[in-house]
Amino acid sequence: MSTAPADTLTVLWAGSEAAWTEWRAPLKSATCGLAKVVREVPDPAAVDVILYAPNGALKDFTPFVNARLVQSLWAGVERIVGNPTLTQPLARMVDPGLTRGMVEWCLGWALRMHLGMDRYAQDGVWRNHVLPPLAPERKVTVLGAGALGGAAARAMVQVGFDTAVWSASGREIEGTRALGGEESLTEALRRAEILIALLPDTAGTRGLLDARRLALLPKGANILNPGRGTLIDETALLGLLNRGVLGHAVLDVFAAEPLPAAHPFWRHPRVTVTPHIAAETRAATAVTMVADNLRRLREGQPLLHLVDRARGY
Ligand code: NDP
Repeated sequence: MSTAPADTLTVLWAGSEAAWTEWRAPLKSATCGLAKVVREVPDPAAVDVILYAPNGALKDFTPFVNARLVQSLWAGVERIVGNPTLTQPLARMVDPGLTRGMVEWCLGWALRMHLGMDRYAQDGVWRNHVLPPLAPERKVTVLGAGALGGAAARAMVQVGFDTAVWSASGREIEGTRALGGEESLTEALRRAEILIALLPDTAGTRGLLDARRLALLPKGANILNPGRGTLIDETALLGLLNRGVLGHAVLDVFAAEPLPAAHPFWRHPRVTVTPHIAAETRAATAVTMVADNLRRLREGQPLLHLVDRARGY
C-alpha cells in the first residue's frame, strides 16, 4: 500500500456526479504529487481543500475545520457566498476554456445583431437597401470588466467595435473607454447600441437594469445577457421590446431557471433564448487553475481569484 507524502493535500470533491466523470482523469494528472483527491472522507478534519459546485450534495461546511480553501468549480458564486456555514476562504473559477466559450457566445451574437442577420427573412423580398455600419461606427458597452467581461470587451475591440466597459471600479481594458461607478452607468447605457451584460448576481447588481435604466438605451438597442438573470427587470424589458423601443434581446440567463415553458420570452419575435449555455467550465483547461491554487496553498503564496464576501463576488 502506498502512502502519500506528508505535504500532499487532501482534496474533497464536492461537485456533481456527472461532473466527476469529466474531471476525474484531468484532475488526477494535474494534481499528481500535489494532492490526493477523494470523494468521501472518514474524518472531515483531514480535508485541506474542497472542490465545490452548488449542484453537488455538500451544503454544510462546518465539519471541515481545517480546510483552508473552498475552490468553486463555477464562475458564479451567488449560491455559496452567503452560506453561513462557510468560514473558509472561497475562490471562484477562472478557466481559459470557459472564458473562450463566453467570448465566442458574445462575439457570435454581437455580430449577428450588428449585421442585422435576422433582417434577411427567406420570404422572396429583395431587401438590398440597408447599408449596415462597419464595426468602428457601432457602439458596444460591456457591463463588467472581470475575467469574462474583460475578455469579451477585448474581443469586441479586436473586431473594431467602439467599445466602452463599465464596472464598479472603472477597470481599464486596453482599447476601450473605461467607465466606473453608479454615476457613469447612465452614460454607459445611453451609448449602448449593443449592450453585453457580464455582471455577477450580488446585492449591488440585482434589479440594476430596471425600467428607468433600460429606457436610457438608444432606440433599437440590442441586449445580450449571459451574466445573471437577476440583473434585468424582465417585465420592463418585455414592455420595451413589445413597444419596439428595444431591438432584440439575447438572453442566456433568467430570474427563474429553467425558463418556464409558458414564459413569453420563448415565443417573442424580439427575444432569443439560449438555455444558460453561454459558457461552461471545461475540466481539461480548468484543472490548471485548480492545481495552481493548490500549489500556492501548499507553498503559502497568495491564492488566486478569492471572493470578497462583503461584495459578493
Ligand atoms: P468577475 O468577478 O471576474 O468580474 C465581475 C465584474 O463585475 C467586475 O468587473 C466587477 O467590477 C463588476 N461588478 C460587480 N458588481 C458590480 C456592481 N455592483 N456595479 C458595477 N460593476 C460591478 O466575474 P467573471 O467575469 O468571471 O464572471 C461574471 C459573471 O458571469 C459570473 O458572476 C456569472 O454570474 C456569469 N457567468 C455566466 C455563465 C453562463 O454560462 N451564462 C458562465 C460563467 C459565468 P470591478 O472590476 O470593479 O470589481
